[in-house]
Amino acid sequence: MALSEFDLIHRFFQSESLQCGQGVILGIGDDCALLNLRPGEQLAVSMDTMVSGVHFPVDATAEDIGYRLLAANLSDLAAMGAEPVWFTLALTIPSVNESWLEGFSRGLAQLAGEFHLSLVGGDTTRGPLTLTVQVHGRIPVGQALRRDGAYAGDHIYVSGSLGDSAAGLALALNPPSLLSATDSYLLERFYRPTPRVEMGRLLRPYASAVIDISDGLLGDLQHILQRSHMGAELELQHVPLSEQLLATMPRQDALLKALTGGEDFELCFTVNPADEANMLRELQRLQVPLTRIGTITHRTGLRMALDGEEFSLPAHLGFQHF
Ligand code: ADP
Ligand code: MG
Repeated sequence: MALSEFDLIHRFFQSESLQCGQGVILGIGDDCALLNLRPGEQLAVSMDTMVSGVHFPVDATAEDIGYRLLAANLSDLAAMGAEPVWFTLALTIPSVNESWLEGFSRGLAQLAGEFHLSLVGGDTTRGPLTLTVQVHGRIPVGQALRRDGAYAGDHIYVSGSLGDSAAGLALALNPPSLLSATDSYLLERFYRPTPRVEMGRLLRPYASAVIDISDGLLGDLQHILQRSHMGAELELQHVPLSEQLLATMPRQDALLKALTGGEDFELCFTVNPADEANMLRELQRLQVPLTRIGTITHRTGLRMALDGEEFSLPAHLGFQHF
C-alpha cells in the first residue's frame, strides 16, 4: 500500500466535510468514539451493508456508492423519526485506489453535510469491495415511530413515487447506448435516493406506524401489518407512479415495479383519520407528494383492488428474501 492505513483514514475520512455533527467528544483516532446525547434523548441505531455486484453494479461510481450507502442508512433513521447525528464505516477494499476513495468520501460528504453528520470511527480491511455503515440518530424518549402501532381504520400513505429505483437499477444493469432524460432520472433515483429524514421527524406526533420502503411496498407494508396484528385494503389505482416511469413501460408493469421493486426509500405510514388533517398541513411545507393508498383493517391479510376489481400479484412476484 502506498498509503498507510493511518494516512488513508486521515486523508479520506477525517476531512471537515465529514465532521458536521454535534456531540462528538472524541471522534476518529482513539479506540472508541465518545458521543454525547442530550438529556431526555434515546439513541436509534441501524446498520446496512452493500456488497459490490450484489447491492450495486460493479461499474457504479465510487461517489454514487458512497451516497447511496449513507442514504439507505439514513432512510432507516427517517422511518423511526430519529434525527441523524453520527455514523461509523467498515470499509473492505481490494486495494488502495486513491481516486476511488476520494470519490467515495465525496459521496458520503454530500449527505453528511446536508444532514449534519459526523463520521466518528470505523474499520478498514482488505478484501472484496464491501461497505458497511452504522448510523446513530437521536430521538426524544418515547417518541420513536415504530412498525407496531397501526390500528383498524387508519389510513395508509406513501411519500413520493414508487418503482423508479427498480427501473433505474434495471437500466444500470443493462444500459442503453444513449441515455434519454427519462433514463437519467430513473438512474438518479436508484443511485441517489432521498432519505425522508425531515418527514420522519414531522410525522412523530401523527403517524401510528412507519416503515421505509426498501424491499418493495407490499413486502414492507406486510411488516407493519404483522407487527401491528392488522390487515389492509389497498386501492392500487392510487399508488403514485412518476411520469418518467410511465413513459418507459405500460401502466401494469409500472405498477408491479412500484409494488415489488425495492429501494425507493420512500416512507409508508399509517395515520388515524382524526390526525390526518393536521398531519397533511404540517407536512405540506416539505413539498413532497403524499398519497393515500388504502386503509388498515381488523381482518388480517392484504386485499388489493385495481379500478374496483380484485387484484392479485402474478405468482412469480411473491415477495421473499431468500
Ligand atoms: P483499532 O485497531 O483500535 O480498532 P484502527 O487502527 O482500526 O483502531 O483504527 C484507528 C482509528 O481510525 C479508530 O478510531 C477507528 O475508529 C478509525 N477508523 C478506522 N477505519 C476507519 C474508516 N474506514 N472510517 C472512519 N474511521 C475509521
Ligand atoms: Mg480496528
